[in-house]
Amino acid sequence: MTAQRVAHLPINDGSNGWSRILPQRTPQPALCGEQHADWVVIGAGYAGLAAARRLAENRPDDTIALIEAGEVGENASGRNSGFAIDLPHVVGSSMEELGGSHRYMALARSAIDYHETQIERYAIDCDWTQPGKYQTACSEQGVGEFLEPFARELEALNEPFSWIEKSDLERRLGTSHFKAAVYTPGCRLLNPAALVRGLAANLPPNVLLFENSPVTHLETAAKIKVSTAAGIVNAPQLILGVNGFADYFGFYQRRLLPFAANASLSRRLTAAERETLACEDNWGVTPANAFASITMRFTNDHRILIRNNIYYNPRMRETASYQAEIARRHKRLFDQRFPMLPEVEMEFTWTGYVCLSQNGAPGFGRLADNIHTSVCQNAIGVTKGTAGGMLAADMACGIDNELIGYMQSLGQPNKLPARPWLDIGVKARLLWELWQARREV
Ligand SMILES: Cc1cc2nc3c(=O)[nH]c(=O)nc-3n(C[C@H](O)[C@H](O)[C@H](O)COP(=O)(O)OP(=O)(O)OC[C@H]3O[C@@H](n4cnc5c(N)ncnc54)[C@H](O)[C@@H]3O)c2cc1C
Repeated sequence: MTAQRVAHLPINDGSNGWSRILPQRTPQPALCGEQHADWVVIGAGYAGLAAARRLAENRPDDTIALIEAGEVGENASGRNSGFAIDLPHVVGSSMEELGGSHRYMALARSAIDYHETQIERYAIDCDWTQPGKYQTACSEQGVGEFLEPFARELEALNEPFSWIEKSDLERRLGTSHFKAAVYTPGCRLLNPAALVRGLAANLPPNVLLFENSPVTHLETAAKIKVSTAAGIVNAPQLILGVNGFADYFGFYQRRLLPFAANASLSRRLTAAERETLACEDNWGVTPANAFASITMRFTNDHRILIRNNIYYNPRMRETASYQAEIARRHKRLFDQRFPMLPEVEMEFTWTGYVCLSQNGAPGFGRLADNIHTSVCQNAIGVTKGTAGGMLAADMACGIDNELIGYMQSLGQPNKLPARPWLDIGVKARLLWELWQARREV
């Protein structure tokens, strides 16, 4: 038997703008007393929610306990920029890389189909739309080194796209900041907290969701025992969906890289400000370099989202004073792009934690006969976390699904050097990325 004390727990600082613009919700009760279930799933982000639903569908007579440290929609799954992306970031051009891209797209699109099915079935109001997205560059270097190869790769994949020049882009987005963009139509945009809430509110009846129940101890053997401050769940099988916290559970140690990512939502633009901006409604922009530059959205309720500042943050904690500094930076970035709207303030600024691996591989699969996992979504969890959760459940139930092989073909997170060498290496690599892409800010 292995007993693990989970010594580091997630916290919710209450700053998530996406949930603050939604009505208040009452969380499900915390775990209390001793319970028995057929399955226990830990973590109610995209991965855990998809795993719990799929287990319930695969095994309608089983009971599934889904245990969440905080409240649904307050984790990374509810704090992200709200892009459900159907294409890989980097495609590559060899036959092997193109084959990998096809598998990747099949996984991402299965997750998008899954979300669309649930959104329609339960009428989940999460602003889910399909405006596509603009992959942008703001320098000649970004156009040559990123956009042009990206366009060639999309051609090789036979994926639809349009090349948008600066003046057309300015008309569409209301800013002259970008040199060019590649527009792809498959991306969906959403309010991520609303989607996570909706998925949690419509779980099958054989899933019991416990919120505000941080797991503090995990015992693994032929049976699993999960303990929180006030309760215990015993179950024969476990699925772990705790993303960057997995190594505190004793898994993927020295393989995961928790990074902080920060976003701000402006207040709603007035009708007069929208007229000044004179752009299309509801668009999304992702940058040539995700570390250096910014992701932006113009939401359906007329707010501008700015996502910038990704940095290594192994403790997954941020101070209020640094968040205030980030809010000021986001306002500066907003002003550079929209100088015609000086009065528009950032209403909300928040930090979330993404989990990366050095080789970009997910933490997916079987860790023991009765332990499966979907963690480490490499910052594209709306699709990858969802697909990983569904497929971890299928794998645990012994269901034959060709997408399991696709997921496995993405590899496993590789081993990292010990700290402090790791910290030095990651920070040096990040500085190099920022310097390389300095014209893309
Ligand atoms: C600012 C920002 C922008 C992003 N933009 C995008 C985007 O546009 N598109 C995209 O696809 N991805 C984006 N991402 C990444 C995406 O949000 C994540 O990849 C995704 O949410 C991961 O989902 P998950 O279910 O694996 O993990 P999480 O959402 O992190 O869920 C893990 C859950 O485990 C719980 N947990 C951890 N420890 C315990 C414990 N001890 N006991 C009980 N529960 C525990 C946590 O509370 C949490 O709820 C962004 C992330 C951030 C922060």
